[in-house]
Amino acid sequence: MHTVHIVGAGPGDPELITVKGQRLLQQADVIIYAGSLVNPALLDYAKPGCQIHNSASMTLDEVIHTIEKAVKKGFSVVRLHTGDPAIYGAIQEQMDALKKLAIDFDVVPGVSSFLASAAALRQEYTLPEISQTVIITRNAGRTPVPEKESLKSLAVHKATMCIFLSVHMLDKVAEELIAGGYSSDTPAAVVQKASWPEQKVVRGQLKTIAEKVKEQSIDKTAMIIVGDCLESDYALSRLYAPEFTHMYRKGTGAEEK
Ligand code: SAH
Repeated sequence: MHTVHIVGAGPGDPELITVKGQRLLQQADVIIYAGSLVNPALLDYAKPGCQIHNSASMTLDEVIHTIEKAVKKGFSVVRLHTGDPAIYGAIQEQMDALKKLAIDFDVVPGVSSFLASAAALRQEYTLPEISQTVIITRNAGRTPVPEKESLKSLAVHKATMCIFLSVHMLDKVAEELIAGGYSSDTPAAVVQKASWPEQKVVRGQLKTIAEKVKEQSIDKTAMIIVGDCLESDYALSRLYAPEFTHMYRKGTGAEEK
């Protein structure tokens, strides 16, 4: 029986899947892809005759049943998720169901959209003396978020924040972040469809971003990025400072760790 491969498709650009993910797609007899987000251009990697299912219209049971039937026939199966499957991928329940059926599986990571968004912004999220922390979160929607992780409470840290699944309620998001501690002129950006040909980038501040995003009619498949890293004077990284000695380079100054 073949191992089922749960594969991260990356954020959209078909060249941003891993080499391993691409090979598995090319070899698959059956592909089940998350149709609401995965770029269909990735399916061009499938071989002729490959059976392709869009899971957007399927239930968990239907997905698992389709996988079970395929592996029993000796087919190789790829379950294709957007970005990296570990982030809002709803893969835990699929993996647990496969475990119960004693179907072997592995996971191939992918480039998450919060990283493709940094690339689109040409931005480092972890700037010395600005923020060394990236918070990945979402606003509560149909999936609740534990109260101790509310945007308001996370805002206290004033770290770099990447907020998934929430652009349709950006005005509420900005309000909560300001209530939690960010100043209203904290820089904010929204990247829609990072790495797709139709990628859009909107930049503003917490107090202006919702209006700007509305003007661009962006209401889904977008990342909200908030934090001073987007616009501030930062300290130079120690890593490339001439006087800094580390494991791979002898610097001109006193030894530092
Ligand atoms: N596993 C995916 C996230 C799935 S949840 C990942 O690692 O990226 C779906 C949310 O991801 C969307 O609502 C949006 O916030 C974000 N997203 C997915 N693809 C995106 C893209 N290409 N650009 C910007 N945001 C994206």
